[in-house]
Amino acid sequence: MEQKQHHYDIAVIGGGPGGYPAAIKAAQKGKAVALIEAGELGGTCLNRGCIPSKTLIASAEALNRVKQASEFGIHLENVSFDFTKMVDRKDKIVNKVRKSLEGLIAANKIKLFRGYGKFVTPKRIKITGEDNVEISADKTIVATGSEPKNMPAFPFDYKKIHDSTSMLEIRKLPKKLVIVGGGIIGCEFASLYLEFGVDVTILEVLPRILPMECTSVSTALTKALKKRGVNIETNVFVEVIETTDKGVSVRLAEGKTIEADMALVAVGRKLNTAGIGLENAGVLINPEGLIDVNERMETNVPGIYAVGDIASKWWLAHVASHQGLVAAGNACGESMRMHYNAVPSVIFTNPEIGTVGYTLEEAIEKGYHATIGTFPFQALGKSQATFQTEGFAQVVSDRDTGQILGAQVVGHEAATLVAEMGIVISNEMTLECVTNTIHAHPTIAEAWMEAAFLASEKPLHMPPQKAILN
Ligand SMILES: Cc1cc2nc3c(=O)[nH]c(=O)nc-3n(C[C@H](O)[C@H](O)[C@H](O)COP(=O)(O)OP(=O)(O)OC[C@H]3O[C@@H](n4cnc5c(N)ncnc54)[C@H](O)[C@@H]3O)c2cc1C
Repeated sequence: MEQKQHHYDIAVIGGGPGGYPAAIKAAQKGKAVALIEAGELGGTCLNRGCIPSKTLIASAEALNRVKQASEFGIHLENVSFDFTKMVDRKDKIVNKVRKSLEGLIAANKIKLFRGYGKFVTPKRIKITGEDNVEISADKTIVATGSEPKNMPAFPFDYKKIHDSTSMLEIRKLPKKLVIVGGGIIGCEFASLYLEFGVDVTILEVLPRILPMECTSVSTALTKALKKRGVNIETNVFVEVIETTDKGVSVRLAEGKTIEADMALVAVGRKLNTAGIGLENAGVLINPEGLIDVNERMETNVPGIYAVGDIASKWWLAHVASHQGLVAAGNACGESMRMHYNAVPSVIFTNPEIGTVGYTLEEAIEKGYHATIGTFPFQALGKSQATFQTEGFAQVVSDRDTGQILGAQVVGHEAATLVAEMGIVISNEMTLECVTNTIHAHPTIAEAWMEAAFLASEKPLHMPPQKAILN
């Protein structure tokens, strides 16, 4: 096949949320940019992750709201839903967003190569696929992301045993679903399919679901999911899953076997660092399997940067995008650094979860004289009005200085609410900054002000009580 020669100021390998913002920023800085994508623009997030899952979750939320109609004095009869239409809607939205992203790349005059990129030398990349080209670039940003990992114990057939990618494509709901893994993805899928009447079991090897979150958040979700009917089994090790005539058979190390129609394996992702010629470029991988980068997102090879899932343990789209902007800024002569002290993490379960900064436990561990103020949504007028009273907002602060170190929120719109605390924490603001800020009434954002009052031991809409002190 014909091999053309091209030279660019900057090449970006991978067009996911890490890679494409980097390409746009570099192009806006006047650089000649090549973006190399082996699959679809938008990467895991747009095509197999954030957007398709949240579109289905939005259908589940709408259904949940409809089920509450009688609370609002609305009589609805014979409410039903069509899951295939929900899946069609998801596909339509993903296609629409992808098309607009393709337009954005073209509008920024970025040369998009469709194919698999592999370093030949630190400055040369061979592309194989729809485009077959070898290009050279002064600087390269690697953003090849991750994908579900194949594991012998879980022989994926993508009909009865699914990974997160194939699970988003099912068009017929199972009656009984077993989910291996109680992390973010496992809990989001559990909450989603539960709403559609599926009998869901979560199997988690650790003592609690959401083990990376603080105990109060994990306990709140455990209670909420159990109340809605999810069967949660913790401290269990899944040895093997086998397909049967009727569905799947999930064998636990304890000897117990669980039968179900379908299994979703929501554990284990493989980093896309193999086969991309890192050895030809001399780029090093650290003992955790990640590409070794500094806070400027530089690898050990001058002029080569790495961002996204392959470069840090955050594995979040917004972290990947921010890293992409930092890498592109540095590649274009700016001086930018990544800071991870105020990274919001959101979980789209029912109830939703948003966290940022330190948990109380982490703050204490770091040596702070930490305190926490927890305000229940139950006590907010707006939550009562909208019949969304589940959950709480809490702020973790330093008792000596009043600085807010972390925040956790469980409940309606938690994913949006957490943004306020992101600004507060990244700008090192105090409890007083929040209590002195006028929060509109009636809104659920008032919960932050109330939690800050509580942490200051001056509760406003709660009886006086002692905040939990270190
Ligand atoms: C089910 C699910 C739900 C999720 N929900 C959320 C969420 O709600 N919020 C959130 O923040 N995160 C979420 N995530 C995580 C998020 O999707 C990832 O953290 C994010 O996509 C990582 O971005 P990235 O650019 O590093 O990699 P990716 O998005 O994986 O993109 C990498 C791209 O590189 C391409 N590529 C790989 N190798 C090559 C090569 N050699 N040459 C050319 N192209 C190549 C791939 O085709 C891909 O398009 C979710 C993930 C999953 C699986």
